[in-house]
Amino acid sequence: MAALEFTRRYAMAHRLLATKSPKCAIPHGHNEFVTVRLDPTSCFVFSETNSAAPFDTVKQRWHAWIDSAVDHTLHLAETDPLLDYFRQHEPKQLAQIMTFQGDPTTEALAACFFLKLSAFIAADALPFTVREVRIEETPTNTVIVSRESFDPATCGLRAGAWPWRADMSINDF
Ligand SMILES: [Zn+2]
Repeated sequence: MAALEFTRRYAMAHRLLATKSPKCAIPHGHNEFVTVRLDPTSCFVFSETNSAAPFDTVKQRWHAWIDSAVDHTLHLAETDPLLDYFRQHEPKQLAQIMTFQGDPTTEALAACFFLKLSAFIAADALPFTVREVRIEETPTNTVIVSRESFDPATCGLRAGAWPWRADMSINDF
């Protein structure tokens, strides 16, 4: 069955502390593209419309989240001491901080995207499953999380964390 893909661009910043890469320990930014691939759960071609009707629904919801909640965010590990700075001095900015269980790598972000999109689809009972999330971090560096290599049931993210929730959240403050 035909798979469906859509792509969105956003700007973000992060820093990696546990990874022990001196270059990545300072906050720095990327302009990234996220491409998601969905599989319809039933055959829709050779029907009257020949299209996956709710496709627009999931696409609009996903892009609304990327545009309003993800674009121009700072990604930090939950243990990053910068969080204390923002809590004490600029609490309003916490809304634009995405938190991670562990270092906020592109691999972790792709897994969070996979879970969030799956949560949106489940909440709306839409006839799709997420096959793949691909993040182009730079023109020469892309990270792919796919259903073959990533199992949400055993992924280790704690229950109730923001990627599981079908809302606009990007942290658990
Ligand atoms: Zn980076």
